[in-house]
Amino acid sequence: MKALVFEGHGGVEVLQYRDVAEPEVSPNDVLVRVKATACNYNDIWARRGMPGMSVIFPHISGSDAAGEVVKAGSEVRNVQPGDEVVVHCGVSCRNCEACAAGVDVFCREFRIWGFQTGPLDGAHSELIRVPAYNVLAKPKNLSWEEASSLPLTLVTAWRKLVTRAQVKPGDFVLIWGAAGGLGIMAIQIARLFKARPIAVASSDDKLQVCERLGAEFLINRKKQDVLDEVRRITGRRGADIVFEHPGGATWQTSVQAVRRGGTIVTSGATSGHEGLTDLRHVFFRQLNVMGSTLGSKAELIQAMRFVETGDIKPVVSEILPLKEAGRAQVVMENSEVLGKIVLVPDGNGSH
Ligand SMILES: [Zn+2]
Repeated sequence: MKALVFEGHGGVEVLQYRDVAEPEVSPNDVLVRVKATACNYNDIWARRGMPGMSVIFPHISGSDAAGEVVKAGSEVRNVQPGDEVVVHCGVSCRNCEACAAGVDVFCREFRIWGFQTGPLDGAHSELIRVPAYNVLAKPKNLSWEEASSLPLTLVTAWRKLVTRAQVKPGDFVLIWGAAGGLGIMAIQIARLFKARPIAVASSDDKLQVCERLGAEFLINRKKQDVLDEVRRITGRRGADIVFEHPGGATWQTSVQAVRRGGTIVTSGATSGHEGLTDLRHVFFRQLNVMGSTLGSKAELIQAMRFVETGDIKPVVSEILPLKEAGRAQVVMENSEVLGKIVLVPDGNGSH
């Protein structure tokens, strides 16, 4: 089978589209023929290398996939060959106290599949082996490409807003990178809870998409001052929740833009790992600063119900052959992508 493999860190030139052995299926695993697989920023971090995190080589990136089960291990009961599935990329021991309590994201063995697993164990491949526990039925109302674009960003945004920040009706939610993969989910989740999404993006075209998805307020960060706009929109009160993920470039504004007693919830640092915090804001204004990473299978199942009802919709801006993953990564590195870029393995067809 073909897969996108790399054996050392570097630019996109390290990505090789080549033959690798078909994965072995253990009794609790399934083998899935990938129909579509989405790109995430983690793919870029793994390729570039990240201080403090070792990537297992040879590595296949990719944490989002949709496809058809072709083989099920002898102990698998939840799916069978022919089933159409998507992958939940959080893998954990499923035995410890955290896993038993349903908070597998706190398991000491928690890993993001395709990012922290390996060797040769990620979605950018024609065939993948995953624990049967990690597959869910593909929403019937979506194409393969749309379905593959969802799980990682959907579960991440759901955990951030619903579980961690506890979004409620009427909350002003400031969403950075609102037209990107995470942002488009955040807008729709905020809307679902009758909150008031404030979308920040880098162009009017992107903001139009945000508006279509339910953003109530739009800020073009190239033309407008984000802090001034948030103050104007909220009557100088500030946002109830700030949905953070750019990190370095936006952190100080996030701290200033949140209301007294409000919540900043962060899940990333694509623009820089260090954010300067004036601690007087944190204690005088009694801010809640929270971290969040991915989410549990339960959170993904909860969120997926609203995909089936059409309340949460995917946005796929580009579909490329799997072998052109490097080109997709360059686009992501150079600009804020609108929604998601999805890759399709050559041999596996699609519809
Ligand atoms: Zn565990």
